[in-house]
Amino acid sequence: MPTTTTTGSLPVASLPRECDAAIIGGGAAGFFAAITCAESNPGLRVALIEKSAQCLAKVRISGGGRCNVTHACFEPTELVRHYPRGAKALRGPYSRFQPRDTMAWFESRGVALKIESDGRVFPVTDQSETIIECLTRAAQQAGVSVHTTTSIRDIRRDSSGSGSGFVATVKDAEPLRCKRLLLATGNGVYGWRWAQELGHTIEEPVPSLFTFTIHDPRLRDLAGVVVDPVCLRLKDANLEQPGPLLITHWGLSGPVVLRLSAWGARILHERGYLMELEVDWAPKRTTEQLRDSISKEKTANARRTIMSHPVEDLPKRLWARLTHAAGIREDERWADLSKSETVRLVDEIHRGTFQITSKGVFKEEFVTCGGVRLDEVNLKTMESRVCPRLHFAGEILDIDGVTGGFNFQSAWTTGYLAGLAMAAGE
Ligand SMILES: Cc1cc2nc3c(=O)[nH]c(=O)nc-3n(C[C@H](O)[C@H](O)[C@H](O)COP(=O)(O)OP(=O)(O)OC[C@H]3O[C@@H](n4cnc5c(N)ncnc54)[C@H](O)[C@@H]3O)c2cc1C
Repeated sequence: MPTTTTTGSLPVASLPRECDAAIIGGGAAGFFAAITCAESNPGLRVALIEKSAQCLAKVRISGGGRCNVTHACFEPTELVRHYPRGAKALRGPYSRFQPRDTMAWFESRGVALKIESDGRVFPVTDQSETIIECLTRAAQQAGVSVHTTTSIRDIRRDSSGSGSGFVATVKDAEPLRCKRLLLATGNGVYGWRWAQELGHTIEEPVPSLFTFTIHDPRLRDLAGVVVDPVCLRLKDANLEQPGPLLITHWGLSGPVVLRLSAWGARILHERGYLMELEVDWAPKRTTEQLRDSISKEKTANARRTIMSHPVEDLPKRLWARLTHAAGIREDERWADLSKSETVRLVDEIHRGTFQITSKGVFKEEFVTCGGVRLDEVNLKTMESRVCPRLHFAGEILDIDGVTGGFNFQSAWTTGYLAGLAMAAGE
């Protein structure tokens, strides 16, 4: 049976038969839209409908339970560079509501935030629950009626009355009529299906932000080794990313892998997650500089074994694997390193090729690349250009960012703009 609450604990009236603004999806985008709409126009009846028993489930698990709310990047043109999909389209929205506004929004409601050294923003409590409580309280105070465990069966344009709104068929309840409708269903398939039925095109949804599965003897038993920075290149795709790498039991992970998986989400999907990856283990050095370091080792450590004496501060166990892959004997000394071995070693350090065999499962963060096409949406109001009074916000759109708080920021911004427009519209 549909459940109706304002805070998750206080029961209020059951699902209304009519409302002014219906918001489908009780995630970050849906809550921000509902609160903004109800606060901007207190006379409106705003209903937020969530299919599961609890709202804001992703906020709860986000950032390892700490919720990385946004990123301290306050320049819209710089901010949009963190979005493999939606960068251009987000410039306008971010000139209206950006991370500074998000921070002010939460802080003005009593949530103290902190900026970590890498720019990620978290609540000072390090608890995502703080964000959930704030959003839930704000929704309640603004008079939003939140209806959990409420399954919408289908959505149509309302042909009765003025004929300009929508009617949603609800499981175990009367249909709901509304003047304006917001789809904020994240990566739920029904949201995309309804958007399509109402005239929209969906860019094929595929995963983004994942690790690479690689079975390679050079990585075996090196789980836990971190190299910072490396530069990764997806061969054949003209895509590269610098940053910290983590070797795992099943392949490669760490911020640089997640970023590359986001930029390469589509091509990796097209190739069935079978692609060659080039790893530069010493990206701060040119080939010339690397050759110089090697010849200095040959002189300074001539009698020491190559394997026990890494160049460029590479972790010892990784260095042993790289030298082995370059065909260097375990007991070979620096003095005996031949010219051809030097070439092979430099190649191994600068251009080691690894075969990605599948997409790993990364539990920290995962988003969807693809969704409602952006040229069919007015990015000032988040209103559909093909179906008047229908709005979109959050991950349902063809927008996704890299890790670091960018995905929530696009949900807050698009939710905020949709909420304002719904409040102002007839
Ligand atoms: C494990 C994990 C950790 C993450 N950590 C971070 C982070 O720290 N920082 C960051 O920026 N991003 C993070 N993200 C990404 C972020 O969670 C999403 O970008 C964000 O939640 C998108 O918000 P949304 O409101 O569009 O969608 P969602 O949060 O997915 O909300 C959509 C809601 O709609 C509901 N719904 C779906 N279909 C229906 C339907 N038919 N009827 C009614 N309701 C429906 C869903 O149940 C859900 O509650 C993380 C993602 C994951 C998976």
